[in-house]
Amino acid sequence: MNGNALHIMRRITQVLFVLLIILAPVFDVLRFDSATGSLIVFGSEWSIGLEKGFYEIHSLGNASHVAWRFFLKAILPWVLILSVFPVLGALTGRFFCGWFCPEGALFELFDFLTTKIFGRRSLLNKKPNDSGIPSQNRLPYILLAVFCMMLIPLIAGTALTGYFVNPRTIWGQIINWEFTFGVKAGIIGVSIYIFISAMIVRHTLCKYVCGAGLMQMLFGWASPVSLRVNADPVKLAACTDCKGCERVCFMNVRPRLPKKDINCVNCGECIISCNKELGEGRGVFNYTQSKLCAVPPKEAIDKLSNLKTSLGGKCYEKTCS
Ligand code: SF4
Ligand code: SF4
Repeated sequence: MNGNALHIMRRITQVLFVLLIILAPVFDVLRFDSATGSLIVFGSEWSIGLEKGFYEIHSLGNASHVAWRFFLKAILPWVLILSVFPVLGALTGRFFCGWFCPEGALFELFDFLTTKIFGRRSLLNKKPNDSGIPSQNRLPYILLAVFCMMLIPLIAGTALTGYFVNPRTIWGQIINWEFTFGVKAGIIGVSIYIFISAMIVRHTLCKYVCGAGLMQMLFGWASPVSLRVNADPVKLAACTDCKGCERVCFMNVRPRLPKKDINCVNCGECIISCNKELGEGRGVFNYTQSKLCAVPPKEAIDKLSNLKTSLGGKCYEKTCS
């Protein structure tokens, strides 16, 4: 798959996942109805399925039936839900964060806009991997940024409130411009959270706060078979030190370093950037599912020593990637 295809594929998966999150409560795929106190899963009310008056029959068979229903409909689903991110992490590292997470996609959008407007990703400070060059025509990006800042938090607030209040009820309240306290609190609370996280916190949240990210990070780090982006030490000898791989990394990872950074979300942007610099297929980075590595030959190590400064004084001589 060439670089552009990889990039387009990632944008498609991100957009589809955002749509899934917005539409799941609308189509009753998953939501909690606070009015009736019931959980709706794929259009049906999720219940343990016990018959009325089950507690009146004190037999062993009935007790076993109750225990079985409880395990099947209450404990097992929770175990499955809680194991999703550890299993994903063990197999794919933080792939979900880079390819699906709606918040990650939102942060990337605001990274893009602030880079175009200010020449750096963060509103607060400049990072070593920022381009430092804003767009020559900043007006369209400023207008787009204002539009996104106003609209996206409200859409997210409304969509996520739909997980607790029937989306039809919310829609009716929007049409009549009359809101109950719960709907108002849901929309305003989520909007403020989305606004602050997208404006100020961004990927710091992915690194230090997000529980799903942390689980993928830990299990991905421990797993010998998790997906990771590796620098091929032999190909690295051809590196031109253009630093393109570092500039595109919104997680501030320096992918050429021999020691893998657990914050890498396997987005593949460094793979694309390096293939652009060195030629399709000749780039330094690739996806791998193995911790095993090739120790670089002597000629490669000699060339790599020229990059020692760029690699922060670290070299591949003794370290396996
Ligand atoms: S190191 Fe590469 S794959 Fe990992 S997050 Fe950075 S750009 Fe994405
Ligand atoms: S993008 Fe490739 S050539 Fe450029 S600095 Fe990174 S590894 Fe070297």
